[in-house]
Amino acid sequence: MIDLDSTMGKVKPSATLAINELSAEIISQGKEVFRLGFGQSPFPVPTKIVEALKKNAHQKDYLPVQGLYELREEIGNYFKRNYQLQVNANSILVGPGSKELIYNFQVACSFDELLLPTPSWVSYEPQAFLNNHTVKWLPTLETNGWKLDPKALEEHCKKDTDKKRVLILNYPSNPLGNTYSDAELEDLAHMLRKEEILVIADEIYGEVHHEGNHQTIAKFYPEGTIISTGLSKWAGAGGWRFGIFVFPEELTYIQKAMAVVASETFTSVSAPIQYAAIEAYKEDESLKEYLNASRKILKAVGHYVYTELTKLGVTMPKPEGGFYLYPNFGKWKSQIISKGIDSSEEFCQILLNETGVALLPGTAFGHPKDCFSARLSYVDFDGEKFLVFMRKHPETK
Ligand code: PLP
Repeated sequence: MIDLDSTMGKVKPSATLAINELSAEIISQGKEVFRLGFGQSPFPVPTKIVEALKKNAHQKDYLPVQGLYELREEIGNYFKRNYQLQVNANSILVGPGSKELIYNFQVACSFDELLLPTPSWVSYEPQAFLNNHTVKWLPTLETNGWKLDPKALEEHCKKDTDKKRVLILNYPSNPLGNTYSDAELEDLAHMLRKEEILVIADEIYGEVHHEGNHQTIAKFYPEGTIISTGLSKWAGAGGWRFGIFVFPEELTYIQKAMAVVASETFTSVSAPIQYAAIEAYKEDESLKEYLNASRKILKAVGHYVYTELTKLGVTMPKPEGGFYLYPNFGKWKSQIISKGIDSSEEFCQILLNETGVALLPGTAFGHPKDCFSARLSYVDFDGEKFLVFMRKHPETK
């Protein structure tokens, strides 16, 4: 028999997969599942972008590895308009999803430690393992909304000052649903600069902050920040697979290394998608209206679920952006444990089996198994219907 080593041993079986499989089994028995474990935008892709895709269905050529120049120029304009950042078209790389770009980064670069605040998105750690990178989870406190405190960063770096480190900081957060204020980003930026840590700012939910303005840490730490974003969350186009990395001048050597990996793997993002994405990043009233309505809807639903759970005694950060809440059922820890349930994973499986409610266990996001937190996604609703309502009643708060 041919006996090859495979990646299987490097990556733990995914909790998402386990919950998805159990959900499918329950549905096949004719029972209802409340799909609160999934993180897909509930809204349709804006008509203007769909029309652009249709118009460009005939585009068939391989495109430049970095992405169409016209597209990168438009993305640069978007960053100038929204964040007052001077982003040159040449310091942008597009890829088939930001997930692919974060992975590509890990292929292209050597470093000693990938730092992840606890909890962080499910895919960062497996991606690191697939590339033989060491992951260090940084502790956070529930009383601080599970957000990274610069002191935890400093404490960690004290252990070995010579290590080359990369931090992935995601805000608005999956799974937390909260975000960082300008002052918090500024404090973190100060520490990152002091410790010479490169940060990948995963801002894929940046456009779906609920109110005010989303801020980027690149504003405070331009020389050490790579911004990661894309079309998946704000434009409802996850399946289109379109992501963006924005580099500062100082880090364009990383962009070049990533372009080499890209040219030997995915080659370029699908041509029709790139032409359609040009329209997505142009200033446009219909897109502004779509985004404002999406934000209001997400805020209303998120706050409703937050308020109802809070009444029951469940604790969690207040929703500020994105699609999620991170309820902590720790109040009932002794009752849960007395039933023989000793991990958030088992808790979520039993919850799904007995009530049809699908949540993702905190262990999937780096929390220890006895931290009874789980991710609740509140976007299992018909976003198109809500958008039609908002269009008719734009005054709705
Ligand atoms: N980062 C976070 C925090 C996410 O939640 C997701 C998608 O779920 C991604 C990145 C990947 O997004 P994309 O569709 O651009 O690959």
